[in-house]
Amino acid sequence: MGKNNLASQSTYTSTRELEDLGIHVKTRTTIEDINTTTKQLTYTEKDDETPLTDHFDKLVLATGSYPVIPPIRGVINDNVYFVKNKQDAFALRKFMDKKKVVAVMGGGMIGVELARIFQKKGMEVYIVQAGNRILNKYVDEEVGEEIRSLLEKEGIKVHTSSLVLDIKDISSSKLSKKGQTIAVYTEHKQINVDGVVVAIGFRPNSTLLMDQVLIGDRGAIEVDEYMRTSADDIFAVGDCATTTMKQVEHKIYLPHALRCFP
Ligand SMILES: Cc1cc2nc3c(=O)[nH]c(=O)nc-3n(C[C@H](O)[C@H](O)[C@H](O)COP(=O)(O)OP(=O)(O)OC[C@H]3O[C@@H](n4cnc5c(N)ncnc54)[C@H](O)[C@@H]3O)c2cc1C
Repeated sequence: MGKNNLASQSTYTSTRELEDLGIHVKTRTTIEDINTTTKQLTYTEKDDETPLTDHFDKLVLATGSYPVIPPIRGVINDNVYFVKNKQDAFALRKFMDKKKVVAVMGGGMIGVELARIFQKKGMEVYIVQAGNRILNKYVDEEVGEEIRSLLEKEGIKVHTSSLVLDIKDISSSKLSKKGQTIAVYTEHKQINVDGVVVAIGFRPNSTLLMDQVLIGDRGAIEVDEYMRTSADDIFAVGDCATTTMKQVEHKIYLPHALRCFP
């Protein structure tokens, strides 16, 4: 909403604070390979592609997640936005300040939260949700419907059971009568907008251990309640790993920062 300073909120801590605690921090360093048997890891630093190696006694993997990119022609476009990191937030902020009509693809927590922000900023907002109701992973149907009618009262147009089939750049076409540059096609409708925000979920960044440990729900690294993977001395935490919930029989993929579920 622009009430707070985005940049100052975008990090929980700083390199300096961590180093003051005695933690060595290597930024612009990419782990390229992990061998769980020999306990070796290969990494590259900064812009140099020369592989370097190191050894570990215990390893905690926290490689996070990446946003799901739908297999739609036209999804790679300057006016199609993803929401994961600080750069994405700044790009969206710029978009919000300049443009008027937006389609949010995905009616989950992030999609609904962003839709409300756009609406409060005076934009015309569409939520396009493949499932038959919004927030279906978070709340029961009754509550979901109540939230939907609140959003609609605020002026947000909610389209459920609507799969986005295509996104088309119409900037130089006659289709764009009101000056909108993007057409979003669903099974039922064409919506002309200035930009599309894709918020249809995340996938775990688990490739480094993919063939070496047990992989669970949605490709997340399966861990027990002590965050141990199936390999000795290898742990995984955060968005790359599964979560154990007492009421749920199987370990599930739940990419949230606050997992304080009973
Ligand atoms: C818009 C948005 C809103 C959200 N709102 C909420 C909310 O309200 N409540 C909530 O609980 N959660 C929320 N979340 C989810 C929450 O942000 C994530 O669950 C959390 O940030 C995941 O942290 P992480 O450290 O596991 O992964 P990430 O934040 O994905 O960090 C992983 C890091 O690992 C690095 N990395 C990856 N591969 C390598 C490699 N090979 N070598 C070296 N480094 C590597 C990446 O560069 C990255 O910095 C939200 C997320 C988004 C995008």
